[in-house]
Amino acid sequence: MWKYYLQGLFWTGLDLIFPPKCGGCERPNYRWCPDCQENVNLISGPVCAVCGIPLESWRLCDACGQKLPDYQILRSWAAFEGPVRNALHRLKYRRDMGLGDALASQIIMFLRQLSWSADMVVPVPLGKHRRGERGYNQVGLIAYPLALLMDWDYNPRALFRTRETTTQVGLSVVARRSNVMDAFQAIPKLIQGKQIILIDDVATTGATLSSCARALMNAGALGVKAITVARALSYRSDS
Ligand SMILES: [Zn+2]
Ligand SMILES: [Zn+2]
Repeated sequence: MWKYYLQGLFWTGLDLIFPPKCGGCERPNYRWCPDCQENVNLISGPVCAVCGIPLESWRLCDACGQKLPDYQILRSWAAFEGPVRNALHRLKYRRDMGLGDALASQIIMFLRQLSWSADMVVPVPLGKHRRGERGYNQVGLIAYPLALLMDWDYNPRALFRTRETTTQVGLSVVARRSNVMDAFQAIPKLIQGKQIILIDDVATTGATLSSCARALMNAGALGVKAITVARALSYRSDS
């Protein structure tokens, strides 16, 4: 916990020197402004009991009914639209650690309500190629402060990509699944016997998370639960 507060103090100090901009609307002097928070479309109604896609009642969605994913459960904080979409875009192209922190402090309330127990947080890894271009994994900017707040271990190296995958944008459900199949591997000595929380920025069909979960289970994880910041509610939209 103290690590988290120390980090917060650091960002407050830095804000005095370089005033931030809101990650949702670019309003100056905010990292995440009250208007953007107000406009977040939280996923709070009935969802699929497994993959968390919004439904009209609590049940299993058709896709999960046909084939269960390899994770136990997936829950997402908000719909992938408006200020949330802007903020995630910003994190992808700018290493705005203060924004990651600001979002994490909102998502933490949602995460606490789930009352999941876990040993370790693992972010969905980027391929070497993309990480090389960007120099960082944007998921870590949110996953790390969340792990600190929940007092869970954080290990961004326990899971890695074994091959580069093409973008999931524009692919069908089935094509998404085969695109990421066996694209990940986990390190057994870091994973064995642990309950893992997998974190990603956006989920669409959940195919990437399922493939990651399979790699973690193959490496001896006790179980894998997944969290994403956002959920793309129409997977024809780009994500
Ligand atoms: Zn804003
Ligand atoms: Zn489902």
